[in-house]
Amino acid sequence: MKKKIWLSPPHMGGEEEGFVKEAFETNWISPVGPHISAFEDELSSYLEGVGVAALSSGTAAIHLALLLLDVNQGDEVICSTFTFSASINPVRYVGAVPVFVDSERDTWGMDPELLEKTIKDRINAGRKPKAIIVVHLYGMPAQMNDIMRLARVYEIPVIEDAAEALGSTYDGKPAGTLADIGVLSFNGNKIITTSGGGALLSRNTAHITRARFLATQARDPAPHYEHSVIGYNYRLSNVCAGIGRGQLRVLDNRVKQRREVFDYYIRKLAQEHFSFLAEPVGTFSNRWLSCMVSTGNVRPGLIREALEKENIESRPLWKPMHLQPVFRGCKSFLNGVSEYAFTRGICLPSGSNLTTADLDRITDVIIRLFN
Ligand SMILES: *Cc1c(COP(=O)(O)O)cnc(C)c1O
Repeated sequence: MKKKIWLSPPHMGGEEEGFVKEAFETNWISPVGPHISAFEDELSSYLEGVGVAALSSGTAAIHLALLLLDVNQGDEVICSTFTFSASINPVRYVGAVPVFVDSERDTWGMDPELLEKTIKDRINAGRKPKAIIVVHLYGMPAQMNDIMRLARVYEIPVIEDAAEALGSTYDGKPAGTLADIGVLSFNGNKIITTSGGGALLSRNTAHITRARFLATQARDPAPHYEHSVIGYNYRLSNVCAGIGRGQLRVLDNRVKQRREVFDYYIRKLAQEHFSFLAEPVGTFSNRWLSCMVSTGNVRPGLIREALEKENIESRPLWKPMHLQPVFRGCKSFLNGVSEYAFTRGICLPSGSNLTTADLDRITDVIIRLFN
């Protein structure tokens, strides 16, 4: 069997083990310790000074973001339908109701026109949405100027799910810092990893203080254990933060490598049968996953099966949330873009550690399907 090629494997930079060793030597093997604040500070300076709370996952960050915005039982939250379920599940954790909005075709991000239609519809129904969750899908920034303008006009706070978009920028500003609260993930498949982890970002320091408080069991200041609100065990561990410090040192390189993978696919495959999303003016994508849409008569399922036979992992694009059994019956404002991308698209192996030989192996399988 040929060597397995994974979709998006972890890629260590070399300094991670040193930081982890330091955590062991100093016995900071807990969700407290010097790597956590150092990781937060280093991430903050990478993200132009935004406030950072390091957490156990991106999902936890979205959950806390909803709590910080006071989203409660029965409230409506406008969400991108084209995303991973972890963007939406926390809406249910707080007992709120997702209202799904489809994508526009240039970035696959939330369609601003449909967003406005949705906001008006919900306000007319007497159910003004409590928050909007926008996703930068596969690293491509959504049309944030239009989205934030609407959010300001209608006075609805925005959570920016940048779990897939660390290292991307929009109008020169880092993804994750463009809305009221940003969310990052350091899961094993993301552009950098802490093995598992996430972060909540905000320029509002009260949000950061509150997020850290809720993430560490909401202990009130007292020598004994005193609690006046429900807490969570959501803090990143000092060991994982050590891995993150090493990974941050190679982040720009990882972005460069992922973008090279994407460019390679375009050079080899972009012809009449396949299309790829270009970057609109002012956006820079980390190209977390290289996605391709099959516009000809070869179904993406055939490509996936052919790659699988060669021990190469690929995946369909995210199945839109309005099509998921668990969210059946939720209100959705649709235009066909996410369903089309889901049925015609495929995510190709995108790891920053792919070699040219690996890439040739992948593209040869796909090109052979046509001959
Ligand atoms: C990965 C991901 C998340 C969740 O992050 P975890 O750290 O795995 O909990 C949320 N939203 C999107 C869009 C993601 O891709």
